Amino acid sequence: MNRWIPLLGREQPTPASLSTEGGLPVQVRRSDRARRMRLTVDAQGQATVVLPRRATLAQARAFVRAQSAWLERHAGKGRQAGASAQAHMQPDAQGRPTRVLLRGEWTDVHWGGGGPLQLAAHAGTAQLQSRLRALARADAQVIIDAQAERLVRVPARLSIRDQASRWGSLSGRGTLSLNWRLIMAPPEVLAYVVNHELAHLAHPNHSPAFWAEVERLMPGHDIHRRWLRREGDVLRHVLPAG
Ligand SMILES: [Zn+2]
Repeated sequence: MNRWIPLLGREQPTPASLSTEGGLPVQVRRSDRARRMRLTVDAQGQATVVLPRRATLAQARAFVRAQSAWLERHAGKGRQAGASAQAHMQPDAQGRPTRVLLRGEWTDVHWGGGGPLQLAAHAGTAQLQSRLRALARADAQVIIDAQAERLVRVPARLSIRDQASRWGSLSGRGTLSLNWRLIMAPPEVLAYVVNHELAHLAHPNHSPAFWAEVERLMPGHDIHRRWLRREGDVLRHVLPAG
């Protein structure tokens, strides 16, 4: 999606990163599509400054310095969430988690035992993830089926994925894509994302009419939307990708 492109001028070397006042490294990325400088911090706490083509490195450095407090706070939150998720997963001798988040609750994983998350003794994290993906698909399908009569059309397909930065999307062809990690969130949060994407069947935008449709499909959705904004990052730290 976003491409790395070289900085302007041949003599000017591309720095690996800038840093905040507190010494947090900040990657520099150029984007043809960016209109203005912006900052991102990913779930692992990696900060990046995205520059439009014409912005200079001096401008980027000043911007990063001015936003140091914000960057350091968010990167710190990311690292904390990662450490807290690691502690909650209580890995066994083979490094497999013995607990994962399931529908908003830390739930025991039984490798070769009983319980709601029972897996073969020799299974690994990949099998655990595919079980969670199957549960995400099942929960989403229940919601789609329940709403079918209230929709102008139903999604053509349900695709369970591991998007790096999105919770769900609806393609022009009507494929509803859902991030499997939502099975770890409280059930209403997964339901909100499914209903959000279903509302895009009627309105392929985020207009007031779209939000009215989300509210029609799921009255009181806003509290779940806010949960995702506030807490969603933690879902990326449990069974982290790659
Ligand atoms: Zn949307």
